[in-house]
Amino acid sequence: TAKLLHKDASEVIKKLIMLGTMATINQELDMDTILLLAGDFGVEVEVKIPVEEDRFETTEENDEPESLTTRPPVVTIMGHVDHGKTTLLDAIRSTNVIGGEAGGITQHIGAYQVEINSKKITFLDTPGHEAFTAMRARGAQVTDMTIIVVAADDGVMPQTVEAINHAKAAGLPIIVAVNKIDKPDANPDKVKQELTEYELVPEEWGGDTIFVNVSAKQKMGLEDLLEMILLVAEVNEYKANPDKRARGTIIEAELDKGRGSVARILVQNGTLKVGDAFVAGNCFGRVRAMVNDKGRRLKEAGPSTPVEITGLTEVPLAGDPFMVFEDERKARAIAEKRATTQRQSELGSNTRVTLDDLFQHIKDGEMKDLNVIIKGDVQGSVEALKGSLNKIEVEGVRVKIIHSSVGAINESDIILAAASNAIVIGFNVRPDNQAKATADSEKVDIRLHRVIYNVIEEIEQAMKGMLDPIY
Ligand code: GDP
Repeated sequence: TAKLLHKDASEVIKKLIMLGTMATINQELDMDTILLLAGDFGVEVEVKIPVEEDRFETTEENDEPESLTTRPPVVTIMGHVDHGKTTLLDAIRSTNVIGGEAGGITQHIGAYQVEINSKKITFLDTPGHEAFTAMRARGAQVTDMTIIVVAADDGVMPQTVEAINHAKAAGLPIIVAVNKIDKPDANPDKVKQELTEYELVPEEWGGDTIFVNVSAKQKMGLEDLLEMILLVAEVNEYKANPDKRARGTIIEAELDKGRGSVARILVQNGTLKVGDAFVAGNCFGRVRAMVNDKGRRLKEAGPSTPVEITGLTEVPLAGDPFMVFEDERKARAIAEKRATTQRQSELGSNTRVTLDDLFQHIKDGEMKDLNVIIKGDVQGSVEALKGSLNKIEVEGVRVKIIHSSVGAINESDIILAAASNAIVIGFNVRPDNQAKATADSEKVDIRLHRVIYNVIEEIEQAMKGMLDPIY
C-alpha cells in the first residue's frame, strides 16, 4: 500500500496509528482503510473491482440449466390514449384481489402480481410505451411480453402503431386485447383487419397473433386474456435461478418524507432478502424493509416479484440496474465507481449512432442494420421514402425502418431511437420542442429533408463513409 501511495512504510504506519488502526508493514489493508489513508495523504485512489462482479445481467446465461426454475412472465400494457389501458390494468388487478388474497391493502408499487390457475403473472403498472422505452433506452429490459390494447369502437390509431413498433423494436411477443366490445358500435373484426397491415394476423386468418376480445369496464374476457398470457409464457419458457443474489431493475423511486428514499424494484433473477446489501444505479444501501403490492411485509422476494424497499442512501432512477452484493462495503465501492464512470461518460463522447460516424461502426463490424425512424407530412411521401430506403444496401449493411408515421417528430420517436440506436428522418416535418430537447440530451441524430433524393443520397453516402462532415 505504501508504494502505491508513494510514501514510506513508516509514514503510512504512523498515519494508520493516528487513524486508530494498528498495522504492521506487511498487513493487507481493507478498502475503507485504504480510502481513508489516501484521503489523508491527499491522494486519489481508484478502486478496482473485478469486472465480472460489476457486470449487470439479468439473463440466466451464467446459470446451470438445472438451477433454473420457471418464473412468472412480466407484462406491459400499451396502446392509444383512451383505449382503456388504465381501466384494463385496474380491472385485472381488482378481479384477482377478490379471488385471491383478500384483506391486503393495495399498494401502488409500479407493478403488481395476479394469480390464475395457481400461476402468477406480473404486470407493470405504468401504461404506455414511453415509460417502457425510456427504461429500455437506459439499458433495462424489464418485460417479457406486451399487450396492445385497441378500442373496438375506434380501431388502430397513431399511438397503437407506435406501441406496436416499440414492442417489435424490443423483440417482444405481442398479444392484442380488443377492448370496449361492450359498446354498441364495437367492431372487433375491423381492428383485426387494420392490424394485418402491421403483421399482426389472427390465427383464424392464418397468422400467429393472439387476439382476445375484452371489456375492461365490464370485466369481460379478462380470464381469457390471462390464460393467453400464460400460454405465451409457457411457449417462451421464462426462467430464473432463485438460489442466488438478486438482480433486477428499478421501476420507480422517490423520496418519502417519513421513510427516506423508497425504491420499487422488479426482481428479475435470484432472491432478494431483507438485510441484503445492494447497488441501485449509483446508490447503495441495505434492504431495511420490503413490502409487496398487497401491502404485505416480505422477508424474501424471488424472480419476477415487484417489491418496494427502503434503506437506500439516495434516490435511483427508473431503469437503473439493481444488484445485491455480499457486503455493504463492496456495494458502496461499486456505487461510487459507477458514479465516476457515469460522470466520465457524460463528459465524453456519445455512444449513439449518427450518420457522421456510421461508417466507422460499419467498418468495425458493429452494425448490420441501420435503424431508421421516418416521420413525414403525408402518408404518400412516408411510403415512398420507406420504399426507397429499403432498397439501399451498401457493403452488407441494410436500412431497417423500425417506425414510420405521419406527423411531427415527437418525444416518443426520440426515445425509441435512443433505445434502438436509430436515426430519425423528418420529411417536411420538424421535431417539437420536447423532442428537440430530448434528442439533444440523448444525442439522437435527427435529419430534416424536403427532397426524397437527398435523403437517399445522404444515407448512402454515410454508409459508404463519404459523408462530408457538417461544420
Ligand atoms: P387509457 O388512456 O388507455 O389508460 O384509457 P382509460 O383506461 O383511461 O380509459 C379511457 C375511457 O374509456 C374511460 O372513460 C374508461 O371508462 C373507458 N373504457 C375503458 N375500457 C372500457 C370498456 O371496456 N368499455 C367501455 N364502454 N368503456 C371503457
